[in-house]
Amino acid sequence: MVVSPIAATWPARCVHCNANVPAADFKAKPVWYPKWVIIVFLLSRLIGIILYFWKRRTLDLNIGLCEEHRRKRSMAMWGGGGAAAFAFVVLGAGLALDMPELFIGFLLLFVGGLIVLALGARTVTPMSVEGEVARLKVGQPFLESLR
Ligand SMILES: [Zn+2]
Repeated sequence: MVVSPIAATWPARCVHCNANVPAADFKAKPVWYPKWVIIVFLLSRLIGIILYFWKRRTLDLNIGLCEEHRRKRSMAMWGGGGAAAFAFVVLGAGLALDMPELFIGFLLLFVGGLIVLALGARTVTPMSVEGEVARLKVGQPFLESLR
């Protein structure tokens, strides 16, 4: 894992594949929150949401991201977002044609699309934040270049 101040500019190399890039000019604002907030949320939605907004930390990083990984990221985001949007067409068709089985298709497309969108949008993943110091998961080639 990479240890970094929560606001920092990283070296001008892609955080996934370690390719050289002209500048670390990709603004990443990953959000971290303690994982126990999820357990509280399962017990009480309201308290969980309040704790999420209270305990979450938003990082402010300038990182390197090569052309290929920028392209992969936007493809995943457009694909996932497109699938989630198309889910509503399927839902509309299910209602119009009175075919309740299309509701399952709606759920799969919508949830699957959002998961692809969320995972694809990620660049670096904060695993813990203590004070002003964050520990983040990055691509293996980038991590090994720091050793
Ligand atoms: Zn890359």
